[in-house]
Amino acid sequence: MIETLAQIRGRDTRGTFTCGIVLWGDKVVQTAPKVSYMHGWRRDRVRDYCIRREWKITVVTETQRPGPHPERRTPKKEIGHMVKAPFTPEQVEALRSYQESGKFHPFTCANQHSGDSTLLVNEGGFYCQHCDYTQTWAHEFMLGENL
Ligand SMILES: [Zn+2]
Repeated sequence: MIETLAQIRGRDTRGTFTCGIVLWGDKVVQTAPKVSYMHGWRRDRVRDYCIRREWKITVVTETQRPGPHPERRTPKKEIGHMVKAPFTPEQVEALRSYQESGKFHPFTCANQHSGDSTLLVNEGGFYCQHCDYTQTWAHEFMLGENL
C-alpha cells in the first residue's frame, strides 16, 4: 500500500492557504480541517476539484506501508484451510476420531477396494490399509473440537 502525503495550495475568499491530505492508495484517509470534506474521496476527485478551484496540489512524499492484511483477519478454522503432515500426536488423535466418527464423510482411498477404503492416519499423514495410497494433508476444520 502506498501512503501519499499531498499538499494543497490555493486561494479562497479568506486569502491563500496551504493544507495537507493523506491518501492510502487511491483514497483520502486524513485531511487538514480546512478540507475535511475531502475525507474518503478518491484521488481523481481531489485532483479534479483542485483543478476547478485553480488550487495547486503537489505530492510531498510517497511511502510504501505494510497494508492491512486481509488474510490475518480470516478466522483460523475456516473451512478450506489445509493442514499439512507431519501431524502432531494431538492432531493424529483428532483426525483419527474424525475418520472413525461416522458423522462426517471420512477420507477414503482413491483406488477401488472391495473392503473398507477409509484411510488410516499417523504422523506422516493418511494411508490406505490395502495399497500404498497416501494423503499428506487434512482440512483444518477436521481438527476442530466440535466434532
Ligand atoms: Zn488403497
